Order: sequence, then C-alpha cells, then structure tokens
Amino acid sequence: MLPLKSQNPLALDDYPVPVAPINEYVLGDSYTTFQLWAPAADSVRINLFTEYKEGKESKWLTAQMEKGENGLWTYTFDRRLNNIGYTFQTCYGGQWKAETPGIFAKAVGLNGRRAYCVDMRDTDPEGWNTDELNNPVVPFSKDVIYEMHFRDFSADESAGIKHKGKYLALTEEGTRNKEGLSTGLSHLKELGVTHIHLLPSFDYASVDEGSNKAQYNWGYDPLNYNVPEGSYATDAANPLTRIREFKQMVQHLHRAGFKVVLDVVYNHTFDVNGSNFQLTAPDYFYRRNPDGSLANGSGCGNETASERPLMRKFMIESVLYWIKEYHIDGFRFDLMGIHDIETMNEIRRAVDAVKPGVLIYGEGWASSSPQLPEFQLAMKANVSKVNSVAAFGDELRDGLRGPWDNDANGAFLVGVPGHEESIKFGLVGAVPHPEVNLDKVNYSKKAWAQKATQMISYVSCHDDMCLADRLKATKPGATAKEYERLAKLAETAVFMGQGIPFIFAGDEILRDKKGVHNSYNSPDSVNCITWGCKTAHKDLFDYVCELIKIRQRYDAFHLVDADVIREKMHFIPTKQSNLIAYTIEDKAGGLMVVVLNSNTKAKSITVPKRDYQVLIKDGKASVEGLATLKGGRIKVDPQSALVIYSPSTPLPF
Ligand code: CA
Repeated sequence: MLPLKSQNPLALDDYPVPVAPINEYVLGDSYTTFQLWAPAADSVRINLFTEYKEGKESKWLTAQMEKGENGLWTYTFDRRLNNIGYTFQTCYGGQWKAETPGIFAKAVGLNGRRAYCVDMRDTDPEGWNTDELNNPVVPFSKDVIYEMHFRDFSADESAGIKHKGKYLALTEEGTRNKEGLSTGLSHLKELGVTHIHLLPSFDYASVDEGSNKAQYNWGYDPLNYNVPEGSYATDAANPLTRIREFKQMVQHLHRAGFKVVLDVVYNHTFDVNGSNFQLTAPDYFYRRNPDGSLANGSGCGNETASERPLMRKFMIESVLYWIKEYHIDGFRFDLMGIHDIETMNEIRRAVDAVKPGVLIYGEGWASSSPQLPEFQLAMKANVSKVNSVAAFGDELRDGLRGPWDNDANGAFLVGVPGHEESIKFGLVGAVPHPEVNLDKVNYSKKAWAQKATQMISYVSCHDDMCLADRLKATKPGATAKEYERLAKLAETAVFMGQGIPFIFAGDEILRDKKGVHNSYNSPDSVNCITWGCKTAHKDLFDYVCELIKIRQRYDAFHLVDADVIREKMHFIPTKQSNLIAYTIEDKAGGLMVVVLNSNTKAKSITVPKRDYQVLIKDGKASVEGLATLKGGRIKVDPQSALVIYSPSTPLPF
C-alpha cells in the first residue's frame, strides 16, 4: 500500500479489525449500545436526538464514547432508545469532524444525514417472516434479468400507476396503459423474466429527498450503503417508511415469482471529505495515486480500497445484511474491476453460506486503471478466478450494435460485416471454443469465462443508448417495421446463446431515450418509458415473450460447462458475412439449429437432414411451434432469425 499523509502514528495497514460483525447499535430491553470503528481517532462522541415524530426532533445530549478493543468505540445508555436519532463525531489532531451516521447505519432520516435506532421488526410488512418460503433455487442459466429504474418504469402517466417512481409502484397489480395493455408488475409477469434488477436503491446523494419536484438520477453516488434510498419512499423523513416500503416491494415481487437484484456501488462514494468513511477513519477506505492524490478508477473522483481488511469486511457484511434483512436474491456490482478478486471470492463464500442460488454479476472493468495491480482485480479478464460470479459480455453487445464510444457506428445488426466472431464469442458464453476465431473478436483475445453462466448476455443496458436509439443512430431513416425486425434479431442473439440473458427495461417494447447517450440525470421526459410503446410494438413484445419461453423450455441453451459447450455446440460455416448459424445438441439427443441473418436479402444454408419444428422464423416466434420443416438446404429470411428444433424421436409427419 502506498504511503499516505495521515496524521496519526498508526499505519493504515496496521489498523485492527474486529472479527465479529459490527453492529452500530444494539437495542436491548433496558439498554442501547452503540459502536463505531475508528482505530486512530483521538476521541469519539455520540449525539442523541429526541424521538422521531412527524419530522420534529431536536438534539438531546452529547456523550463521549469509550475506546475499546479492535478500534471500536462504544457507548451504552441505560434505556431502550427506540426511534431515537444519533450521529457520531470523531476527533483527529484536536479537530472535531462533521457529524456522520456512521458506515453501518440501518435507518436514516431525510437525505441520509442522521441515523436512527430502529427496531427492524417494526418495519416488517405483514407476512414478511414467510416471504421466502416459496423462493426456489434455480440454476443460474435459467435466470433472465430485467434491469430497471423506478422512474423509468412507473413515472409516466401512461403507465397508469399510482405510486409514480416509488417502491410501491412494484406492488400495484393489474395496471394498464390507455389501450388496455398491462404495465408495471403485470407487464413483468406477462414477459416472463425471472430477476428484477433495480438500479441503485440504497441511499444515494444526488436527489434532494426533501423536494417535491420530479428529480432524476440513476443513483450511482452512494451515501448510506445499508439503507434504502428515501426519494423512492412515500415519506423520506420518517426513517421507518423507506425500509417498510422497500420490503413491501420485495414481498410483492417474490409473491409474483420474481427475484430481486440490488445494484451495489461499493467502488466509490459520492464525495470524500463528507463521506461516512472519511468522517470515521480518514484515508483508510480509499486508494491513492503514487503522488498522494486520490485514485480515481471510478471516474467519479475516488476509488475505494476493497483489499483493506475493514473495507472488505464492510462489503461482505453489507451484502449479507441486504440478504438477511431485505431478502435480496442477487447483486450487480458496479465497476467490479475496481474490487480485488479475493474480496469478490469472499463475498461469494459468505453469501453461499447463508442463502443458496444468489446471482452475483458485475461490470468487469473500471473507468481508468485502479491503484492495485491488474492481476489482483476482478476485471473481466480475471473473472475465471472469481467463483460463480459473472461479468457483462461487451463483445456480444458491441458485436451486435457497435462500439460504446461511438453511437453512430453500427455493427452486425445493421449489416456491417466483420463482427461475426465477436458474436460467436458471446453465443458460447465467453468460454474457450475452437470454432471461435479469437483474432477477429473485438475486445478479448482470450476466452475469459470458466462456465457460460459467468457471462451476462445483452445488447443494451441503462448505460449508453437504449436499443431503439442505437438502431436509429446506426441506420437512420429505416421504417418502424425494420427497427422492430432488428430488435427481434438482437434479442434472439441475446437469448439463444449460453450466457445469462439480460434486458434493459423497455427494450422489449422498443422504448427510446430521445437519442440521449448518458441519461444519468436527464429528466423524466427522456428516461421514462411511455407505455404507448407497448401498443405500437405489441408484435415485438409478443416475440420476446415467446423467446423467453423457448429459452426456458429447451436444454440446448443451458449447457453451462465449457467442455459440454465445446462438445455439443457447433457453428455451421456460412462463408458469408452477417450470417451466423449453429447447432446445439441437447441431453436427450435433440438438435437445436439457430441462424442469425442480418443481411437485407434472404440467405440459404444447409442444415442437418432431420425433421424440425420451427420455433422462430421471419420475425415470428412460438414455443409451441409455427410449422414443420425438413432439413437440408433451407432459406433464412432477411434481417431475421431462424430457430428450429428436431427432437430425438421423429416428429409425427
Ligand atoms: Ca438519498
């Protein structure tokens, strides 16, 4: 670790770390104990506030905390301080720092400035203790992720949702658009995805929770990691409301058969000087450049140091807390490439010990090089060293739609040749495969996944342009029908491969973001899904629904193991650009044939001579089959996919 300009004599690497979980407060029947980890502080005090009542409270007393073992400061009050507010203050070199809710706050008030002692059982909705009884563990390859932001999904009038942009939006059943098509939770049930990935929903800084004005932010600016964001609650000032409503949302999603994925952003904080990390143990939680300035692998002004024992412990405990207290089923790690491999492995081990089948994936990159040797980082290239953690497959994404740094450059979808190998790389789930020519793959010259379920298969996400905008930017002036055909082709590539499929909310109905590339703080008029899109693109929606059913029904898309994929999945040489064809043999001896044709003309291809059922053809999809077909030389319609299946026993024709 690099030398830091710390005033205290204790070197940062020598800071003691407690073994037991750090509980910021323990509410006993007749006492309350507080804890704060600040090994190098000269002194620590706690401020207590009167009980929270309808936003009114005041400072009640300030008390010195006592220095205990392993860097912990403690204070015990001989009363149960239910719903009492508190902040900590540390003193270094004779200077008292600003008040902080601490890094392990469980409940906070408006804008996350003050913490509260809350009896978490008071926040449980009715039936919460049986919430997870019907939450079966399924193999990762059966997971289908849907990435959404509360405002995108529910704030537009056309959604017909009462709790616009709130947690409770996902508790409303039977909502409809103007034409009577389902929206919200009912739309998700119709679609058939399995995992709802919520954009950051821990307490973040950029939205003023006290304002009634519509404000928008993705929320990648963490404040309090272990508390739900207040602006998505109906009352951000009442510390219990955001917790209770978040749980109500999870409960409704679970009842509807979904699992819930939390987007976690441990790689940086909103700011440094005012962060809870810096106000408790200055300089400990952040990496520095050799010149002493803050490292900035996040591109957001700082990067955290997961390799430091207490930061690692903090991340593990935070993830476990969301699982135990909020019943979270999966985690998406923002800029996972900033974290070290050991931390990610420890998180996986700790999670598996408390709840099986939790989906963990992340961005296997950073904004710029983090201040830790490359071989230690949980980058995409190192993901095979991280057990059962997946990374986003940008090879497939950009092979389909074009590079992230130039919106006008198209690729396979709009008929640009030369991207076939990048797509094949993604179709096999980023595992080594002799029929993928790595020399021609866009980013990776080496396969990086150990199993196909270590790759997230996608064509767009909240970052960059959504699919509709990208198609318009790369093929201007095409008809709505043509964009729809290309969107179907794109999603077919995403779902008919071996990686874990992922959809950005609204791509299934061709929502747009008015061409905005980085819409992180754009207004609702840019970010919200207008649900008339569902009516306009009902045909695409129906196609995606069937696509998901096909993927879930057939074993051919769930090979998972690299050896099995190499044995069972083979590409048919096409000798033409923009035409990719492959066969997948399933366990029962059936044969799946998939052809992706982005040419504007029909193409012919030879497939094994067997009797097939047609599942997808010329922009139509049906899990029950559209028609039958004899193998041999067959025609594939322009700008579309052909998916046919031949069972091991002959079809009755
Ligand atoms: Ca907030």
